[in-house]
Amino acid sequence: MAKRDYYEILGVSRNASEEEIKKEFRRLAMKFHPDRNPGDKVSEEKFKEAREAYEVLSDARKRASYDQFGHSAQDFGGMGGGGGFGAGMNFGDIFGDIFGDIFGQGRGGPARGSDLGYSLEISLENAVFGKTVELTVPTLIACNDCGGSGARKGANPVTCQDCAGHGQIRMQQGFFTVQQTCPTCHGKGRVILDPCPTCRGKGRKRHNKQLSVKIPAGVDTGDRIRLGGEGEAGDPGAPPGDLYVQVQVKEHPIFEREGVHLHCEVPISFVTATLGGELDVPTLKGAAKLKIPAETQSGKVFRMRGLGVPSVRGGGTGDLLCKVLVETPVNLTAKQKEHLQEFENIMKKDNINHSPRSASWFDKVKQFFDDLKS
Ligand SMILES: [Zn+2]
Ligand SMILES: [Zn+2]
Repeated sequence: MAKRDYYEILGVSRNASEEEIKKEFRRLAMKFHPDRNPGDKVSEEKFKEAREAYEVLSDARKRASYDQFGHSAQDFGGMGGGGGFGAGMNFGDIFGDIFGDIFGQGRGGPARGSDLGYSLEISLENAVFGKTVELTVPTLIACNDCGGSGARKGANPVTCQDCAGHGQIRMQQGFFTVQQTCPTCHGKGRVILDPCPTCRGKGRKRHNKQLSVKIPAGVDTGDRIRLGGEGEAGDPGAPPGDLYVQVQVKEHPIFEREGVHLHCEVPISFVTATLGGELDVPTLKGAAKLKIPAETQSGKVFRMRGLGVPSVRGGGTGDLLCKVLVETPVNLTAKQKEHLQEFENIMKKDNINHSPRSASWFDKVKQFFDDLKS
């Protein structure tokens, strides 16, 4: 069976505006909607046909392709996923805005609770190893005196007289029928005549909720932990919002974090640096031995594998990177200074290069001056 032209289905011209297309589709959808024509196969077919036409013509990209290639445009790649136009469409996704105010559900219905954000500051140790923390979150919960309905115990919310429970009212303005959220019930369709005294009809009340939150090992500043349903209570019949715990890791006096790696600086004496030795270095798991080879230069970084941070998304644990800083001795006695001077003199006599860095540095300086002269 040949497919009908999408413009013909909707009864609009080829240069119809988005508004016209939407308006005509609404008209057809209301006429042929299966809820209004139960068991009527013809209506169902017409509804599906209109729906498919609307899905293409309401999308500027798909409409342009359709204008150019007609129905064969469906076979083109990149036309919005392999399924073709009509198949597997999610009713709610595409029609939410159009049907929202016709068939209920949309604007003005019971609103989901708001999401909450909670900023949590934790130590580096807790971020690395994970921890269960107790939070006190100021939130809105359903009022237990009225079960969240907002009406006094024994009383029930009643259907709003002004909108007959639709939550929407229609007004005639010249040619147009304007639909508006009912100002009396704010779209809920029901009003509370005898409000609950505890929550004054709101159905919700402020409450400091105690929550136990498991912080996974490896979290870092900026990570968010989502606790579904732990946000504010919604309107009666609507789900609560979510709680997002935003992690902030405190600065550590010894370690600096870089992703899964930790950095620290370790001061060593010039004697240890020269002769080599073994040091106790701090790690988050306690002290560990670090072997310093002889002739270690200041600024050298030693990698201690697996002593960093576990990856919160799975994968290996990072490393601890220890940067040694060779210290210049201070507070020397006259005798100590004398020994040092003597040491310096002996060093100069043997004609061997004991300072690898200065040697190459002086070479560079000499080269620099030579280049200037030429
Ligand atoms: Zn209440
Ligand atoms: Zn109303």
